[in-house]
Amino acid sequence: MIFLKTEEEIELMRAANLLVAKTLAEVGKAVRPGVSTAQLDRLAEEFIRDHGAEPTFKGFPNPYGGPFPGSICTSVNDVVVHGVPSEDTILREGDIISVDCGTLLNGYNGDSCYTFQVGEVSSEVRQLLATTKEALYLGIQAAVPGQRVGDISYAVQTHCEAAGYGIVREFVGHGIGREMHEDPQVPNFGRRGQGKQLKNGLCIAIEPMITMGTHQVYMDDDRWTIHTQDHRPAAHFEHTIAIHHGKADILSSFEEIEKYEAAR
Ligand code: MG
Ligand code: MG
Repeated sequence: MIFLKTEEEIELMRAANLLVAKTLAEVGKAVRPGVSTAQLDRLAEEFIRDHGAEPTFKGFPNPYGGPFPGSICTSVNDVVVHGVPSEDTILREGDIISVDCGTLLNGYNGDSCYTFQVGEVSSEVRQLLATTKEALYLGIQAAVPGQRVGDISYAVQTHCEAAGYGIVREFVGHGIGREMHEDPQVPNFGRRGQGKQLKNGLCIAIEPMITMGTHQVYMDDDRWTIHTQDHRPAAHFEHTIAIHHGKADILSSFEEIEKYEAAR
């Protein structure tokens, strides 16, 4: 069932998503060689709680095992999604790390993800990140009333496949609101004109998960961490958007992150 949001609800969603944006920016500033993903997790949890919200991912139930132990997902290099923060995972020069963050603020959810570079990254990897981010914005451009979910999927897929990258099938974008995962599903692959029609009031998270090599993935023994089958790197960028006033309104933001990335 799809829950369309009122203008008031969209503003509550914006507040939750702007807190996610600020949290990601704080985490990004701390990303450097030598830092552990557990340190980043502690920083995120404290920041979210200091702002009166809950880290939605903490304790998130798992159909395959125990609840998620962290407040953010920290997915390094060949980890596509759901990387578990750990004292033993130390970032090194040339790594990439996708930080996925969710907050629950005043009853509404925010959800956004950004893939950060650790120091100098190879041009091949930089290209993967750039293409994945471009695909996210192409997906958002396609998210207008009257279009269908498949138009978003098609925009993401064609852009990434044209560059020779893989599109992860097992994990998809989603509706979002009072629950972090609501209907409809928003896959990163699909056909134009297919799927649910987009309407004013629909809030969705669009989140391309794109691999440099094969799109095949597997789950680690920890029952959370998802790796690429060939251990080549993967990128993940996610915005939560509201469709209203006839267009897509991005509720999360990369503005602060991009400001300091450009200044580096
Ligand atoms: Mg997310
Ligand atoms: Mg999401």
